[in-house]
Amino acid sequence: MNIRQSFLLLAQGLLLPCALGNAHAQASKPDPLHAWIGATTPAALTAWIGERLAAEQKDIDALMAVKGTRTVENTLRPLDDAQNELALAGDQAYLLYSLADGAEMRDKAQAELNRISSAATDLSLNQGVYRALAAVPLPAGTSKDDLATKHYIERSLLEYRLSGVDKDDATRAKIHALQDKVTEISLNFGKNIANDVKKVPATRKELDGLPADYVARHKPNADGGYTLTTDSPDMLPVEDFSTSADLRRRMYIAYHSRAYPANEPVLKSLLETREELAHTLGYPTYADLATADQMIGSASNLKAFLDEVDAATKDASGREYKQLLAFAQKREPGVTEISDSDSRYWAEQYRKATYDFDAQSVRPYFPYTQVEAGILSTASKLFHVTFQRVPDAIVWDKSVTTYDVLDGSKRIGRIYLDMHPREGKDKWFSSGPVVPGIRGRQMPEGMLICNFSGGVAGDPGLMQYDEVVTFFHEFGHLMHHILGSQNEWSQQGGFNVEGDFVEAPSQMLEEMFRSYAVLAPFAKDYKTGATIPEPLVAKMNAAGAYGRGNWVQAQLFYSSFSLQVHDQPAAQLKFDDLWHTDHDRFLHTAYVPGEHDFASFTHLTGYASNYYTYVLDKVIAVDFFSQFDPRDLLSGPTAMRYRKSVLEPGATEPAAELVKDFLGRPQSIDALKAWVNVQFTEGKQSAAREGK
Ligand SMILES: [Zn+2]
Repeated sequence: MNIRQSFLLLAQGLLLPCALGNAHAQASKPDPLHAWIGATTPAALTAWIGERLAAEQKDIDALMAVKGTRTVENTLRPLDDAQNELALAGDQAYLLYSLADGAEMRDKAQAELNRISSAATDLSLNQGVYRALAAVPLPAGTSKDDLATKHYIERSLLEYRLSGVDKDDATRAKIHALQDKVTEISLNFGKNIANDVKKVPATRKELDGLPADYVARHKPNADGGYTLTTDSPDMLPVEDFSTSADLRRRMYIAYHSRAYPANEPVLKSLLETREELAHTLGYPTYADLATADQMIGSASNLKAFLDEVDAATKDASGREYKQLLAFAQKREPGVTEISDSDSRYWAEQYRKATYDFDAQSVRPYFPYTQVEAGILSTASKLFHVTFQRVPDAIVWDKSVTTYDVLDGSKRIGRIYLDMHPREGKDKWFSSGPVVPGIRGRQMPEGMLICNFSGGVAGDPGLMQYDEVVTFFHEFGHLMHHILGSQNEWSQQGGFNVEGDFVEAPSQMLEEMFRSYAVLAPFAKDYKTGATIPEPLVAKMNAAGAYGRGNWVQAQLFYSSFSLQVHDQPAAQLKFDDLWHTDHDRFLHTAYVPGEHDFASFTHLTGYASNYYTYVLDKVIAVDFFSQFDPRDLLSGPTAMRYRKSVLEPGATEPAAELVKDFLGRPQSIDALKAWVNVQFTEGKQSAAREGK
């Protein structure tokens, strides 16, 4: 339910191939804050994790040994120190699991993640610690620190109760076993997806429309046919570009049937186990349990929220669908509907024709090193910090770049950028904590794990525009961690906010990408140095805004399915039926018979019922962004106010309070409505400017 648990589950869902050895992090003494320094063998990693867990136990022993009155200093302090050790162990086992060279090291890190997860469950069920914490008098003062400490104690006690700490011995043993079972089933669910790569035969004619380098990459079989796979680099271009509706449909069904039927009983068992866990803890459904400590507060609030967003965006998505269908019918008079397997293709054609925008045309303005420098400089201006390169930092791979973050002359954090693919490395894009922050004692450190273009000698690393948006997104998480982890307690940093607020600061930063004033200083042609033309950015923005209604409705579809499978008796669930019903409730595109997409819906393990996080945080993010002056995004006073009232507090206050502090009111759906409808206003204006 917190970021840690979802991190662990995420980590367990991945399997990676092996890689070469690494000589970079050797020849240094072990360092209690950095696992990769000194701990360069699997055995040394185990020893390092063992030290963290031993330190955690020592803190707990010290807490339990206290005689007499419980205080913040003699009870909360050692508990926070214990949590800090668990966080260090978890963050860095995850780092090495995702990024270490060599399968042996990554396998060891994965095993260590399970050990740490189990230790965290032990602590969450420790009655002695719970009673000691409950006996600490809440600070009566009204200083910021007192209020933060009060919130920390209350929040921790809530988490303890949600874990089942106040149950009897037999019930707690059952809860522990159920938690372990959830972890194991989730791992199997992920493995089944990773291991099921399907083959899709195609004729040469069916490859028409695909980019030349795609066709060249695939060699014909002896019979002249081609064999494609369901891996993304094979699958996505087919859905986007192949002129054959039949190939698009076959590929769609293959991709959306991965891990089927294998994952049907696995998912059933996962949901039954979660249901039993919820009942054991006294909640009617797992969705009620999983939302109890979130911003949304309850499953019934969640249902009302999904309905509200549906009402706000339904018209826009209907309008988009009508436009798309009319466009397709003009091109192919026989078309009567747009199916799920045709929608990406037609949307691509529509964008090209309507906005005269070719995504390839902006890549020369986004070579990787310029983008990195540009994002650092944007963050500097926005948040009034500077980044100082640390060329001699010891890192886990020589490609990693390290910066210290300075506030004035004060060093407040360190960031590691691991930005390009390499063999064996995690293939996703994410941001995570490396070291939690404790004011005056421990500086926060964070990392980006990305797989962007570039990183190879001689390759300028020309980025797609959505890669640049992703960079902004992940950097939003990183700034939240660094600026939000300057507090007194290690577990009140940026990543420790309620799970359903985590994606708001990152999605807010995404919006910056649409500003010409933000892009112009760094988006320069890698050969000529010419700045990206403003009309090109306008076209890019207009094309990028097309389809937002459908995007929100698709998020509602996934959110609704995730909620319902955790809200109804698990034994009675019929996944295909429910998927189809939810699909038709939200999407205008036609369902493709034969798909079983639920079987590869990976978010069901990590997010469980809480997939809605993305859409709730989109509502908040665009509302945040609407407070900025579009003519002066970077240097106006709003950015600093945002830093002070949203990022810096980290998890010292409920997220809803941070939202209210910054907006002067709770979030409203109006900004999302405006965001979705930009395509019907702004797009037209820029097209008109272009004389179309
Ligand atoms: Zn994110």
